[in-house]
Amino acid sequence: MLNPNIISFFELSRRAFPDPSVRIVLITNGLLLLKQKAPFFKAVLDNNITVSPTKYPDMDWNKIEQYVESFGVTLKYFTDTDFRSGSVSNKNERVSGKYPLHLDGKCSLTPFDSYSRCGVSNGACGVMRNGRLYPCGIIAGIHHFNNYFNQNLPVTSHDYMDIYKVANCKEILEYIAKPHPFCKYCDVAGRVASLGEYRKTTRDISEWT
Ligand code: SF4
Repeated sequence: MLNPNIISFFELSRRAFPDPSVRIVLITNGLLLLKQKAPFFKAVLDNNITVSPTKYPDMDWNKIEQYVESFGVTLKYFTDTDFRSGSVSNKNERVSGKYPLHLDGKCSLTPFDSYSRCGVSNGACGVMRNGRLYPCGIIAGIHHFNNYFNQNLPVTSHDYMDIYKVANCKEILEYIAKPHPFCKYCDVAGRVASLGEYRKTTRDISEWT
């Protein structure tokens, strides 16, 4: 919702997938829902978009629900569990999880096995940043980790696609269906889906290793 062209995204997505049984979901932390105006919600309804916030604590969800419902839109809350099962829910609150990294790149799994067992691979959670399509948020955001913890986990030119050099859609699909060099840093076998109640980071590297 930071993107001023978000309504176009709704329209283009639905035009590409006109079958109404294809679920197009806006996943959001919900922070900007109260700032949206009538044209946003009209586009949500016109294009059959599911608005799916992650239910973080310390937000007035009753107020947000009432606001969006005044435009005829019902929220469907997103949770990791629901995402994996392919459904959406309206009751689950966000929990904390752990996606550990191996700083030396020596995971117990090969990059192929990590990628095959990864819930966010294969286009499920691609991230666009500065004209590059990253297969996941971990690779797209690892520079923050490197800067903060003085690390140097490398992102190579094989860990993203330059969208301005892509010839066609098939090329993108083939790219995101394969493991990436960075996957060797990702300890998929050590992931913990739920550490219980959501809590803020202590900014210690142990949360990531
Ligand atoms: S680096 Fe590879 S294994 Fe890790 S989250 Fe991204 S796609 Fe999945």
